[in-house]
Amino acid sequence: MALLDGKKLAGKIIRDLKKQVSRRKKKPVLAMVLVGSDPASSIYVRRKGIFCEEAGIISKTLRLPADTSEKKLLAIINKLNKDKNVSAIMVQLPLPKHINKTKIIESIDPKKDADCLHPENFGKFVQANEEYSIVAPATPFGIVRLLEEYKVKIEGKHAIVVGRSNIVGKPVAQLLLNRGATVTVCHRHTKNLAAFTRQADILVVAAGKRNLIRANMVKRGAIVIDVGVNHVGKKIFGDVDFGSVSKKASYITPVPGGVGPVTIAMLLWNTVRLAKK
Ligand code: NAD
Repeated sequence: MALLDGKKLAGKIIRDLKKQVSRRKKKPVLAMVLVGSDPASSIYVRRKGIFCEEAGIISKTLRLPADTSEKKLLAIINKLNKDKNVSAIMVQLPLPKHINKTKIIESIDPKKDADCLHPENFGKFVQANEEYSIVAPATPFGIVRLLEEYKVKIEGKHAIVVGRSNIVGKPVAQLLLNRGATVTVCHRHTKNLAAFTRQADILVVAAGKRNLIRANMVKRGAIVIDVGVNHVGKKIFGDVDFGSVSKKASYITPVPGGVGPVTIAMLLWNTVRLAKK
């Protein structure tokens, strides 16, 4: 078993971005909007700020109270859209229940959409022309970068994706499909999940359920990508039982230190790309 070291790859991407940013007169600016005080979201935003600093990107965090109205949030995004000094905007999800997530995502100028969530960007991305879309969803793009970094062949493989969200499951399935994998997407309504996961050459798990995947659900030699983040006290666990599955897998991502850091690195990659455009 070998580790797919996301921390190491993120460091490499950040160093490359730093070089690109140092050549630019005007530094890219990432505006992050955080509504409420969800502890996990606060940690993510802080970490993104630290990564920005390392890459020479200016980050601005707008911390808004949990009872911020949808109207007020839309007005803030509109202001950021118009602000010529802001290169990219990221609204930290999840949002409080009284705010319509779709409305907020659609209000972000597609030319400043750091997360590739806007339907215009997501649509271009799904059309399988990755060069044509300016940005890519950060987590899926990070996963593929990680596989490429370790020279894992994707073409011809059977990839099983567990989870079908717009930010992970669907776009990662799309990226793997674009690279020639045969892709099966499983989710909470899938009957007999193990029958599918056992077929996976590449298994991507993004369900948010600790220990969902155990060793008896994985084929020997499989490549296992654990996207899950489950907070237990101050510790973080993935969706895969790392102890047992790592004995069967040929490659596996650790949690923490796998998909998480690469996701942030790719968010900054999107930011630099948007600044250049
Ligand atoms: P989500 O809640 O939007 O989607 C979860 C998906 O998992 C759903 O499609 C659901 O059908 C499926 N699912 C849930 N229980 C299942 C089960 N028992 N069997 C099969 N499928 C099941 O979540 P998301 O936003 O896609 O995130 C998934 C996980 O990945 C979370 O733990 C999240 O914190 C984590 N995440 C990590 C990163 C990172 O950078 N590491 C980025 C995004 C999300």
